[in-house]
Amino acid sequence: MDSNDVQPTSRRGLLKWGSAAAAAGVGAVLISGTASAATGSATKPVPKFAPLPAGAKPLPVGPAGYRLERVGRDMYAVTAGGTQAAFVVSSKGVILVDAPPALADALPAAIKEVTSKRVTHLVYSHHHADHIANAAAFGDIARIAHAETARLIKAEQDPQRPMPTETFTDHHTLAVGNQRLELSYPGVNHEAGNIIIHAPRQRTAMMVDVVLPGWAPFRAWGSADSVPGVIRAHDVLADLDIDTYIGGHAHRLGTPRDIKESREFIRDLWNHTADAIARTPVSDYLDLVEAGNNWALFRLWLESVADKVEPITHRKWLTRLAAVDVFTRENIITIALSQIEDAPHNL
Ligand SMILES: [Zn+2]
Repeated sequence: MDSNDVQPTSRRGLLKWGSAAAAAGVGAVLISGTASAATGSATKPVPKFAPLPAGAKPLPVGPAGYRLERVGRDMYAVTAGGTQAAFVVSSKGVILVDAPPALADALPAAIKEVTSKRVTHLVYSHHHADHIANAAAFGDIARIAHAETARLIKAEQDPQRPMPTETFTDHHTLAVGNQRLELSYPGVNHEAGNIIIHAPRQRTAMMVDVVLPGWAPFRAWGSADSVPGVIRAHDVLADLDIDTYIGGHAHRLGTPRDIKESREFIRDLWNHTADAIARTPVSDYLDLVEAGNNWALFRLWLESVADKVEPITHRKWLTRLAAVDVFTRENIITIALSQIEDAPHNL
């Protein structure tokens, strides 16, 4: 691997992992299989990815380019291009959950399709721009978020993400007219402040960027603040008495089965990585690198762990979930780092 193969943008992304060793050691590995299209190199083939299983393919959209689905009696999910938001129609106005820029046109159009009531409340699932950076377009309404989300928004100073008007820490019941949303925080997960939005009367829950129905996890769970926290969030979601789950990114809505399948995948990855670490002594690689080059040592060790876990994972999951062959190797490395750094004792 030539160091010229590592692109600066990828290095920046890797730094989010929180480990300088990962940035230096894993970057080249991550880029190696996918660089040809970006660099225009004729010598490196574009990887051929596995086809999407039937349950992960895009679904038909309406003439305006979005998919509007009723969930329960009064809740609706809007999907376009693999991004999702939701809204609940109450007797006093519309409660919106998230305002993604990708749905800037679709959301107002979808709301207008089902009600003439105006949007009075906006719940932020978390602070990430791809889910809430069209919030300002809804004007001066009530905005509800976790206190950590408020802290993060304040730091970004983004006029498209106005500050919440109301925050909470553990649990908050949002009652508007005849509707009620139970907002709860299972602890730091995909991001600090990423909450569960439960609509009991609609038998629906939404949590963004944790379970993506039909799909293997995105790269590093979207630079997750805590992979153990992502697993713990799965456990909380699995206990909810619901029929429908909205994940924020996928082409379809989910069910409790999707939550359990996602949990099984991540637990498989977690357990196989722990086994591989136990079978991979770092000392085996000491003679292969220059004395003192701990980053090179760490890189070889992480690659060896990933080499052991990746084939097992592909065998079981490649035909069950979409894109298992896209980010799994990186996610094994993310988990290996989490097992060293977070070192949870409750998983
Ligand atoms: Zn996110």
